[in-house]
Amino acid sequence: MDNSTSFSTLALSPAFLSNLDSLGYKEMTPIQAQSLPIILQQQDLIAQAKTGSGKTAAFGIGILAKLNPTYFAVQGLVICPTRELADQVSNELRRLARFAGNIKILTLCGGAPMRPQIASLEHGAHIVVGTPGRLIDHISRGTIKLNAVQTLVLDEADRMVDMGFYDDIHSIVSACSPRRQTLLFSATYADDIRRASEQFLRDPVEVKVEAQH
Ligand code: ADP
Ligand code: MG
Repeated sequence: MDNSTSFSTLALSPAFLSNLDSLGYKEMTPIQAQSLPIILQQQDLIAQAKTGSGKTAAFGIGILAKLNPTYFAVQGLVICPTRELADQVSNELRRLARFAGNIKILTLCGGAPMRPQIASLEHGAHIVVGTPGRLIDHISRGTIKLNAVQTLVLDEADRMVDMGFYDDIHSIVSACSPRRQTLLFSATYADDIRRASEQFLRDPVEVKVEAQH
């Protein structure tokens, strides 16, 4: 087996590595092997790979590697097209974060009552995963602060653009700290994804994993 696909080649703590091992993640998937060195060097990234290739762990490891659990501010923000995807991402992040003690991950999607979300935000969350409409709602009410975001993830960006969320994403990105790292994941490289990467990312590295036939 190729050494370069072992998670232990990455600059991660022993506790982090042993948690990955206990999740059954023995080797990096191709998109993880290509993107994690770039992500952990704090570079912006645009990554293209098919569904089921392990993109969530790629950005999840990036968010968690630099998260400060003693600082109760939103340090990681993941924008997803749908509630189902947001729930899946939150569940995966919770498993990835198990080694790190008390990390609060909050899912903010439409269709759920506002008040409990506002209360959870007041208690402090380290990572927020949400859909564009509900995130905009919290930003305009002033119930979420994104000035401490150090990792911003646009997950399934092509789907979000197809669903008409481009302007909402623009507003959310504008509310984040300009000193953040931005990671964009997409199944395609259409023109509007190029435009998004130019508008929202800074000198991004592009990685692509071809579908296996
Ligand atoms: P994508 O977002 O690319 O569609 P996911 O992040 O949802 O894919 O990952 C698909 C599945 O692969 C998930 O069940 C996840 O737990 C699993 N997985 C991710 N990385 C690894 C790995 N390195 N080894 C084994 N399984 C993994
Ligand atoms: Mg995914």
